[in-house]
Amino acid sequence: MENNPFEIITQQVQENDQKIEHDNRGAFDIIFPIVLIIFVLVFLGACVMSFSSKFRGKMLSRQVKSLKHMVDESADDIEALSATLGGVSARTRKKILDENEDILADVTQREANIKKGYVKTMAKAVKEGFSGDEATAFCKHCGAMIDEDSTFCKKCGKKQ
Ligand SMILES: [Zn+2]
Repeated sequence: MENNPFEIITQQVQENDQKIEHDNRGAFDIIFPIVLIIFVLVFLGACVMSFSSKFRGKMLSRQVKSLKHMVDESADDIEALSATLGGVSARTRKKILDENEDILADVTQREANIKKGYVKTMAKAVKEGFSGDEATAFCKHCGAMIDEDSTFCKKCGKKQ
């Protein structure tokens, strides 16, 4: 190796340039893989979280626990509400039945009376022949033939 001063300087300059280039590239070469590795790790972590049955099981278990806690917390409220609803429902049903019992009995009785009265009236009319000269009506309650303008039934006495 010749110790030519020019060659030495040239070599030193080249080495220096290479060193600067290497340093610049080195910084990038270090930062880029780190960033890449972080991204890859985050991505892999997300993938593992998304697809790992164990992780999903853990999350599900946590959700179930949370739900269970919520249900436990509101269990008393739900029970009280359902009890109230049941009570209301039972009371309402009883009330409706009680009311309907009277109404249905009354309606059934009236229907039966009207049919009976109507049949009797028709039979009587057929037997005696229609007079045709008097306006007739039937009692709302017993079905008896009454005058159209009469306020009370002459058979059962109820108001029309
Ligand atoms: Zn009547």
